[in-house]
Amino acid sequence: MTGLLTVVGLGPGDPRFLTPAAAEALGEATDLVGYGPYLDRAPERPGQRRHPSDNRVEVDRARFALDLAAGGARVAVVSGGDPGVFAMAAAVFEALEAGDPAWRDLDIRVEPGITAMLAAAARAGAPLGGDFCALSLSDNLKPWEVIDARLRAVLGADFVVALYNPISRARPWQLGAAFDLARGIREPATPVILARAVGRPDEHIRTMALSDADPGEADMSTLVIIGASTTRLVERGTGAPYVYTPRSYGVRP
Ligand code: SAH
Repeated sequence: MTGLLTVVGLGPGDPRFLTPAAAEALGEATDLVGYGPYLDRAPERPGQRRHPSDNRVEVDRARFALDLAAGGARVAVVSGGDPGVFAMAAAVFEALEAGDPAWRDLDIRVEPGITAMLAAAARAGAPLGGDFCALSLSDNLKPWEVIDARLRAVLGADFVVALYNPISRARPWQLGAAFDLARGIREPATPVILARAVGRPDEHIRTMALSDADPGEADMSTLVIIGASTTRLVERGTGAPYVYTPRSYGVRP
């Protein structure tokens, strides 16, 4: 087979966050597959076909893309942020694992992008300077009991916690439940960052104490970071304080 399928990370929104390698993969594709608003972020190329799809049917979209590539196309499947973080790259391998054995002869690549967690952290300062972990709060693909157990474990182990998919119309209470769990384990003054639409024109970053964290201020374009016991604020002349987590833990330099 001569087909190529590249899963391309577009970064969080600002076109300057797109890597040159990702831009090259988009430019060389004969076919672009992805959620409509992401496709709109790829520059127009004459002769390139676009296949917009609904955001909910990731594995169907992956199968469609594999099928196109099997027919000889050079396909780019686009994803926001990094395609390997709660996104299309895993859906492509899921479809590959269960699909037509001939697909395994295709050239399949993953082109990384800046994930929302890293872009959000950079805006706030350096909250990921110590150990951290990332969780998706979406219980569409895993039961809430698993999320609850993981949250308790990582909060108890004093990781900085980044929460993807914190809230949506269909999942209105999960972020409130996560904040309640955190309040039972961490100090009220623990810094919490709500980073909305990072890299887009409507970007809005807010830092608050865990005691004041309000799930109503987050939406599905928000990345939430809950600090560890060592995460601290550094006040600046004007504007919100910087948030950082020292690299050292329990040892004096
Ligand atoms: N692959 C994506 C994540 C997909 S999951 C990435 O690497 O960033 C979707 C979740 O990502 C959203 O609910 C939100 O929590 C987060 N997210 C994606 N883009 C974002 C942005 N520009 N600003 C803040 N959060 C974002």
